[in-house]
Amino acid sequence: MAASNIHRTFPEIQEKIDRKEVVILTAQEICDRVREGETIEFHDIDVVTTATSALMSGTYAVLSFKVAEPDTFIKAEKVWINNVPAQVGPCPNERIGILDLIIMGTQQSKTDPGYGAGDLFRDLVLGKQVLVEIQTDDKQNLTCFTTLKQIPHAMLHASRNAFKNYLAFVNPGKSAVSTIFHSEMMKGNYEEMTFCGCGELNPLENDPELKTIGIGTKVLINGAQGFVTGAGTRSSAEKPNLAGVADMHQMDPEFMGGFSTGHGPDIITTWAVAIPVLDREMLIHILKTDEQIPLKVVDVRNRKPIYEITYGHVWNKEDNHEVEFNRKICLKCDACRVEGICPVRAVHSDPETGVHFDRARCFNCGICASVCKGKSFAAHLGSIKLEGVNHKVPVTLRQSDRVAALKAAEVLKHQIQKGQFKMTQPVGKIGFPGRP
Ligand code: SF4
Ligand code: SF4
Repeated sequence: MAASNIHRTFPEIQEKIDRKEVVILTAQEICDRVREGETIEFHDIDVVTTATSALMSGTYAVLSFKVAEPDTFIKAEKVWINNVPAQVGPCPNERIGILDLIIMGTQQSKTDPGYGAGDLFRDLVLGKQVLVEIQTDDKQNLTCFTTLKQIPHAMLHASRNAFKNYLAFVNPGKSAVSTIFHSEMMKGNYEEMTFCGCGELNPLENDPELKTIGIGTKVLINGAQGFVTGAGTRSSAEKPNLAGVADMHQMDPEFMGGFSTGHGPDIITTWAVAIPVLDREMLIHILKTDEQIPLKVVDVRNRKPIYEITYGHVWNKEDNHEVEFNRKICLKCDACRVEGICPVRAVHSDPETGVHFDRARCFNCGICASVCKGKSFAAHLGSIKLEGVNHKVPVTLRQSDRVAALKAAEVLKHQIQKGQFKMTQPVGKIGFPGRP
């Protein structure tokens, strides 16, 4: 059936994909063309791939695996994996030697404050061996080692992910405050700004009316094919977010990990969502660039909005958003400030061999650029003029990684083109207060 020129259906788009005639662009490719002055019409595009990579605290894993032979112990009461506490259950484990566990993404290691569940999930996906410690109800202490391959059930669940963009944070007070919106204390007197949100790439920004995203929509979560299961917690029509699930065995470690905030560990999660362009009205949102997407600046102490800027202020279109490292100009300081502050431990300094930078681990948050003594780490985070503030407020930390998000959107685009990812029509609408 030929697509009409004002409306398309999912099956019509799938037919075009099968015939290899589909036009798929990432949201960034579309917005770049819009910025260059190109007019994009409904017939120019069939599918837009969108993505977001950010701290998403509402993430947890459900693991189920054998830890001992049956009858070795009666019941496990407390469990830690790599020292990260796990919740035992919900199923009981009496005498079977198999544990069902839930691990919250924001859990912290009992021995290493810089290691959390996000790091543990990444280590598992990397194939690393992890230590399991079990305390039983009859006071036995058992240990074993395992790997993701030996864990038959390992699903990552999202209870609150992929928000429709987010907020920027400043501290108008006099003293520094500890917050999850910084990797250490946030300075007062508007000395800095942090923010979260991938702007024009964001899935729900491109389909805010949820015309195509619903229960059962297939997505990529950390590179693995998973599904939307409904609205995330605290969703509203104005600030929706998604719940979902995907198999950890299929995940790509590049899209995930832990992130140390000033208030404990948080977790990085990356979503990519394909949005079929079903009608002209959807283009209104898809063609919006960073410069047209509002970003509320809130007081970090009470989250009250005090200014409004746009994502165009924080995602500089001339920049590729990748943090640069120039080893040649590193001063080899006695105490490398970057190693101390990097929230994902991508930087390691060795007195003999100097500073080592793990690009695959880097989240491009940019905080290193403001503390590196020799300017060997550089990022173009910009600074913002806020009315009534005498100085420009420098952006010091991003809690979203646009480089990873763009990569996820490109991966999804290529998978659809190659027939490796079949888009699914939702089986149910997502409802929440304000949008039943
Ligand atoms: S702070 Fe910068 S210049 Fe100093 S050792 Fe670390 S990376 Fe090198
Ligand atoms: S941008 Fe710098 S501080 Fe941030 S994750 Fe990368 S290396 Fe670490």
